[in-house]
Amino acid sequence: MPAKILDGKALSETMRKEISIDAAKLQAATGVQPGLAAVLVGENPSSQIYVRNKQKACAQAGFASWLHQLSASTTQSTLLELIAKLNADPAVHGILVQLPLPPQIDESAIVRAVTPTKDVDGFSPENVGLLAAGHARYIPCTPHGVHQILLRNDIPIEGRRVVVVGRSNIVGKPVALLLMQKARGANATVTVCHSQSQDLPAVTREGDIVVVAIGQGQFLKREMVKPGAVVIDVGINRLPDGKLVGDVDYGPVSEIASAITPVPGGIGPMTITMLLYNTLQAARLLSGNKV
Ligand code: NDP
Repeated sequence: MPAKILDGKALSETMRKEISIDAAKLQAATGVQPGLAAVLVGENPSSQIYVRNKQKACAQAGFASWLHQLSASTTQSTLLELIAKLNADPAVHGILVQLPLPPQIDESAIVRAVTPTKDVDGFSPENVGLLAAGHARYIPCTPHGVHQILLRNDIPIEGRRVVVVGRSNIVGKPVALLLMQKARGANATVTVCHSQSQDLPAVTREGDIVVVAIGQGQFLKREMVKPGAVVIDVGINRLPDGKLVGDVDYGPVSEIASAITPVPGGIGPMTITMLLYNTLQAARLLSGNKV
């Protein structure tokens, strides 16, 4: 039987409606409109598309949003000054600095400069630490999207073997932290693999759930997947002919998996949805409101 398609686009639409209703309730009760400030440095075409999509999603959810577009030659101190202003601006609840940044800027210094209560990407050391300790404030958006797509499709996670391929700070590592938490809807037994892992196919074949985030098109082959496994594809890659593909060899894998996320239309839209979710959380937190 072909795999169930885990439709991130449809789930995103549902969740964005829920978020916009909650945002309207917050505004009616307190006058606070959730606001997200996006900072884009340089002209990376993918970053421009991501930021544009995030702004569009904010407008649709009834959030305020601002775009600060800086030239590729911007210095680190200019960017730090802008972040200090946004940190101090009460209308701004979430700050998003689109990565990657140009080489003259130290990304980790910028990530650390965003005040943790406005760090809706969840990348600051404080927010990473809270997630690791099991008291997450803002869960990083892509890992949160992975978790939600599993939960909202009633895919059992507790006690199951999850194999995460990729250990980046923005996807692989936080996905592992999230799914191994001692909490309902998590409690998985998690293995994390990376480029130095030996006999990767033997490890991925043990996964009841396999999450792939490595940035290599169609890497996870059918023979690397246990029949009936759930496959979550985070990758976004462009083939030489321009086609967009994930890190999973979708056609053959979907013949033996029980459920699979497509690319596009899987984790991508969920990531933006969880950014809206975190921005709403930030607006509640910073306005001291529980609505
Ligand atoms: P990074 O390049 O930061 O990390 C890649 C990870 O994959 C590293 O841990 C690396 O190992 C590991 N890796 C690379 N090659 C292999 C291999 N052959 N076998 C096993 N492990 C390997 O990538 P990101 O985590 O930032 O992104 C991963 C993918 O997800 C990309 O395609 C990106 O575009 C996409 N993405 C999608 C998002 C969405 O919204 N859908 C959001 C963010 C990312 P090592 O640590 O040893 O180098």
